[in-house]
Amino acid sequence: MKLYKSTRGQQKPIDFYTSILQGIADDGGLLVPDFAFEKKTLADLVDMNYVDLATEIISSFVPADGRELIHQACIGAYDTGLFAKGVVPVQPAGNVYVAELFHGQTAAFKDMALSLLPRLMTLSLKQKGENREVMILTATSGDTGKAALEGFKDVEGTCIKVFYPEEGVSAVQKQQMVTTEGNNVEIIGINGNFDDAQTAVKKAFVSAELKALCDEHNVFLSSANSINIGRFIPQIVYYFYSYTTLVRDGEIKLGDEVNFVVPSGNFGNCLAGWIAKQMGLPVKTFVVASNKNNILTDFFTTGVYDANREFYKTNAPAMDILVSSNLERLVWFMADGDGDRIAKYMQELNETGIYRIDEAMLAKIKSEFAAGCLSEDDVIKTIRDCYKKTGYMLDTHTAVGYGVYQEYVAATNDTTPAILLSTASPYKFPESVYKALTGEDVDVYTAIDRLHKLTHVPIPYPLRGIQDKEVRFKEVVNKEDILDVIATRIKDK
Ligand SMILES: *Cc1c(COP(=O)(O)O)cnc(C)c1O
Repeated sequence: MKLYKSTRGQQKPIDFYTSILQGIADDGGLLVPDFAFEKKTLADLVDMNYVDLATEIISSFVPADGRELIHQACIGAYDTGLFAKGVVPVQPAGNVYVAELFHGQTAAFKDMALSLLPRLMTLSLKQKGENREVMILTATSGDTGKAALEGFKDVEGTCIKVFYPEEGVSAVQKQQMVTTEGNNVEIIGINGNFDDAQTAVKKAFVSAELKALCDEHNVFLSSANSINIGRFIPQIVYYFYSYTTLVRDGEIKLGDEVNFVVPSGNFGNCLAGWIAKQMGLPVKTFVVASNKNNILTDFFTTGVYDANREFYKTNAPAMDILVSSNLERLVWFMADGDGDRIAKYMQELNETGIYRIDEAMLAKIKSEFAAGCLSEDDVIKTIRDCYKKTGYMLDTHTAVGYGVYQEYVAATNDTTPAILLSTASPYKFPESVYKALTGEDVDVYTAIDRLHKLTHVPIPYPLRGIQDKEVRFKEVVNKEDILDVIATRIKDK
């Protein structure tokens, strides 16, 4: 039986469907597989299309009789026109291969998982005979919110509330969210940053008060954030897929090692890659790239996770994070599943803002991960240099990865073929990208227009004409009031 347990060891193991519905563990920890990862044979995977590969990988995490259901869900997510054929194009740019994860319905990599998660959620509701309505709570630094909204809008048996930092997302991201259609969606700005939103939402899940209210109103809470196992599991697929694409294209041979460069924030993306490696993907090093909020860089180089530092708003806002949730899962794996130890670290983090892993664990981590960070000015310079040299237009987040990778190569001379995960379309952050390419400051929609004229890179379908859409949501609340707002919404049910 494939069960999931908490990183903090205090929850009785539960099955896949229950885990999807529940989101976070009862003890505040994150759910992790309580079984050994299935090893895959690369030769079996190399010719698979995205849907078949996704079915093969994701089925490894689901009860054996769930395979056909997963197959149908994958067809719905990846083969009904939300993504172009092929789903994840891979192309060379300078010394890396760029795997573009932004061809879904909101032009960011969150679509890779959030096109599938609502389908896993409905499937799980059915499997469990659940008749309560599920209220999805989502904290977002910009991209998760819109991807979750698109995924869940008008999905039967669900409603979704998204909390975003009013001042901390790009103009395009905000416009995308507040114009979302659908009868079961709500978008609420907060006076605070992403960590405030995420912390409040995590509290909501373990609040006894809200739980009682939910019971009274026949509702239960779940999460579309990357704490849900339904986020990292679908993300494992594109690590395999970008690799097999390079094999099919003759760029590498089956079995060759590669490096992955991952622009990181909450660490869900990179964690999925590490799991792909456990399942047999030959990865040498993961290069973890951060912006000026470089808490992960410090952690991967010193073993100290120190959240007592300033929070910066940067031009790569989806990576503006100090509390990197999914790191808890990696540390749990590195501690060989010692829940007591993780509980202790997390308590220290909670009480003092800091925890430190031991030398042995740090050595283990360093043998698989490298890390670096890039200032805002260097992000702009990287976008300009890369475009000049290679003709490839990077978005600000992907530029963090590209720039950090150049520093990694200079420091290590490691010339293992590298796949850079591109996490957003440059048209989501057009003012910064246009400024990088031309030196000019223009407003957001002018920037989109001119970037297109300048580079001829197609504007992703979800971003065309968004300036003309009706704004449906304007509410902004104080961060202290988020839990009260959630309580009110439950009472309204
Ligand atoms: C979410 C996001 C990231 C960070 O991904 P994590 O899984 O949180 O590490 C990076 N870039 C973009 C554009 C994103 O939306």
